[in-house]
Amino acid sequence: MSDAPNRHQPIDDLCAKFWQTPPVNTTPHAPPIYLASVYACDSPAAARDTLGGATPGYVYQRDGHPNGHMLADRCRELHGATWCEITSSGMSAFSALLLATCQPGDHLLLSQDLYGRSLDLLDSEATRWGMTAERIDTTDLNAVRQAIAAQPPKLLVVETISNPTLKIADLPQLAELCHAAGTLLVVDNTFASPYACQPLRRGADFVVESLTKIINGHADGLLGMIAGKGSEHAEIRRMLSIWGLTAGAFDCWLAARGLSTLHLRADRAAANAQQIAEFLATQTAVETVLYPGLPSHSQHKLAQTVLPVSRGTIVTFTLAASAGQEETTAARFIETIPEIPFCPSLGDLSTTLSHPASTSHRNLTSKQLAGLGISGATIRLSVGVESAEHLVEVLGRGLGKSH
Ligand SMILES: *Cc1c(COP(=O)(O)O)cnc(C)c1O
Repeated sequence: MSDAPNRHQPIDDLCAKFWQTPPVNTTPHAPPIYLASVYACDSPAAARDTLGGATPGYVYQRDGHPNGHMLADRCRELHGATWCEITSSGMSAFSALLLATCQPGDHLLLSQDLYGRSLDLLDSEATRWGMTAERIDTTDLNAVRQAIAAQPPKLLVVETISNPTLKIADLPQLAELCHAAGTLLVVDNTFASPYACQPLRRGADFVVESLTKIINGHADGLLGMIAGKGSEHAEIRRMLSIWGLTAGAFDCWLAARGLSTLHLRADRAAANAQQIAEFLATQTAVETVLYPGLPSHSQHKLAQTVLPVSRGTIVTFTLAASAGQEETTAARFIETIPEIPFCPSLGDLSTTLSHPASTSHRNLTSKQLAGLGISGATIRLSVGVESAEHLVEVLGRGLGKSH
């Protein structure tokens, strides 16, 4: 020990002293951000009660925090769920679901059009852990019926609106087939959002969403959500804590802020998407346009019942291109309209585009791509809240100059 007096001692103690929140006797009109990783417990008995769930409160962030709780509560109400949990990403929502509901030996029936990483998890990863998985065209109800009869699955997983070909899942029919066989219907509702569809109200057992997309809506956070009506809540919560899948407080705060304007953004973007789809359908430089709001969409009628208030904010179209020139045609189109950035995600409040053949679907062969009805000249547009006139003008310029 040095015998120099520790003259800094009061400074050290003040710097390191825990912060006490001043009493706030008026209610903040905007929610505070609770970044605390841990909360002080009043007593051992109180700690035990809070940790055990007997009294409401928070102890450790991985087990729950106020910002996650607030966001989960609003999502639960939107979906008409009895419980909802926020997760660190859309993928961790699927991880929690798989961990909470499945065992080695279980069988999973999957839509072949699921998001690529969902297929990686629910097929490649799940089979590595002793489950079996089968991918089918879930818009073909006969194929679903046969697959369920051949091997009753634990879960059937579909997307309300699929990527990038915007196929619609017939949720009430799928729910009926599932429930007759004791299968749980899981719906990834990311493309629709609760604004366009609430799958639990149409028979689904679980709804999963990536809040990273239109719910946060500002391209600055990564989050997911899982909600349901059944008894699986406690097990989902346990998996979130054990496997460390909980969301951070700041991302939850951002997404809650985004969610406050979901209805305004989703409504404007869907109106824009309808106008853009109608415009693209008149253009000779465009070979095909997919949008559930177009009468030419093969499931237009079903879209009106499954998505009664909005047909979504994604428009997929394929540029007319001579054989072998598909990718070059798409690249030229993208280069011509820098106003619409090439960002391989969706749901931002400004319009972005993606090129499935080089991003989400890059591992597919050209034959597999053709089977899905997409090519190197296919563009997926995530429509934002700009004016439709501006977007049509920009897209028109891209089409004019790409040929
Ligand atoms: C983005 C996305 C996911 C994964 O969500 P993350 O938040 O990126 O983990 C799952 N499903 C669909 C349909 C998505 O678009």
